Amino acid sequence: MMTTSGLLRQHLIDPEVCIRCNTCEETCPIGAITHNDDNYVVDPSICASCGDCLGPCPTGAIDSWRVVSTPYSIDNQFVWEVLPDNEDELLAEPGTDDVEALELLAVAHQSAPRAVAPKSASTPRINVTTRRDPIVATVAGNYRITAPGTESDVHHIVLDLGSQALPVLEGQSIGVLPPSRPNAERSPAIRLYSVCSPRDGERPGHNNLALTVKRVFDNGLGQPGLASNYLCDLARGDTVRLVGPFGDTFLMPMDPAANLIMVCTGTGSAPFRAMTEFHRRHLPSGPGKLWLFFGARTRAELPYFGPLMKLDRSLIEIELCLSREDGVPARHVQDGIRDRLEELRTLLDQDNTYLYLCGVKGMERSVRAVLNDGIVDWEIKESTLLVEGRLHVETY
Ligand SMILES: Cc1cc2nc3c(=O)[nH]c(=O)nc-3n(C[C@H](O)[C@H](O)[C@H](O)COP(=O)(O)OP(=O)(O)OC[C@H]3O[C@@H](n4cnc5c(N)ncnc54)[C@H](O)[C@@H]3O)c2cc1C
Ligand code: SF4
Ligand code: SF4
Repeated sequence: MMTTSGLLRQHLIDPEVCIRCNTCEETCPIGAITHNDDNYVVDPSICASCGDCLGPCPTGAIDSWRVVSTPYSIDNQFVWEVLPDNEDELLAEPGTDDVEALELLAVAHQSAPRAVAPKSASTPRINVTTRRDPIVATVAGNYRITAPGTESDVHHIVLDLGSQALPVLEGQSIGVLPPSRPNAERSPAIRLYSVCSPRDGERPGHNNLALTVKRVFDNGLGQPGLASNYLCDLARGDTVRLVGPFGDTFLMPMDPAANLIMVCTGTGSAPFRAMTEFHRRHLPSGPGKLWLFFGARTRAELPYFGPLMKLDRSLIEIELCLSREDGVPARHVQDGIRDRLEELRTLLDQDNTYLYLCGVKGMERSVRAVLNDGIVDWEIKESTLLVEGRLHVETY
């Protein structure tokens, strides 16, 4: 959009916050987003400011706008380490009408329905710390939570925040600043991890939080995953730089009567551990239903299997979907959902039912396919659930 004085509202990506996850590039319907080894950027000659990429971005880096007279080229954006300051830009424009520029910045674009937080959710804090002033947390514990000898090496890592404030709600993520790889020219992108402890800490009343981290043995480029290996190898007493929190919609309703349907694989269980633990501590007698569909290859590879099985069944119903367990028919989460579709449909028709999906992207596609097949007019229902704050998806 251009004003009479020739100003343009340009869509940009904040390189300090972007985790290079490719979600925006996959989402943009007209191919306006591209990347090089360093940055994800928006091509000003293509972007139509439709807003479709804003909701799916896990960090908010995509929701960056500048008012300019000449748009920044993609070559210019490729080398940025920080966003240019918008005020400098405005001051650099002789005769700029500041009011007009600010009005232009405030224009909101949105065509696709976008997830919103549950109405009764607590107000989240985001970006309390950034990579310029990270919080330094101390490792209070690091435990493997999948059985030894299995391929899936998942750790429960407890981080002590000392006297520093990093308020998180169940469903939010924090960013970790990993150390650089040897000979790297730039500092690495931050990595996001869902917090798996409730808002009052892994240990109630202590200023700490916990993460569920899966070790990536090969990142697809023939290297071990940078941040996951760094985190899984941390010893008690080591320090970690944290930024965030991130996420202001994947949150829990603060309503004891709400039904929470939680669907996950692997480390996607992290936010559901946080939500379940909050309910166990503070809302143990419901009356809302907590219902977990949890997919893994085997019991031994299922994070938190032991503690999960000890949870009181009056608190939560657990549907394990194991795809490679000896002596058990192979089932994925989508099979579990298909088997209970009638009950799920009935629950989703109630205004106080919330559906959450978290885990690998492939799981999201399969679950959506089952819902699409089994629920009449699922696409319409999905849009309604999104704008009512009752459908939340976080896949990576
Ligand atoms: C919202 C959110 C929440 C998350 N929560 C969790 C969680 O609770 N637990 C958890 O274990 N993980 C979680 N993740 C994933 C996590 O952020 C990391 O992506 C994961 O740990 C791997 O990071 P890494 O540094 O070990 O691997 P990396 O070294 O970053 O490799 C990971 C992937 O990045 C790609 N990649 C890496 N380098 C390049 C490159 N130079 N060029 C192109 N592609 C490259 C590869 O395809 C590879 O698959 C979450 C992600 C998001 C977005
Ligand atoms: S973090 Fe946001 S802006 Fe960066 S690549 Fe992912 S979706 Fe795009
Ligand atoms: S605003 Fe629309 S056109 Fe522009 S990058 Fe995002 S999805 Fe693409």
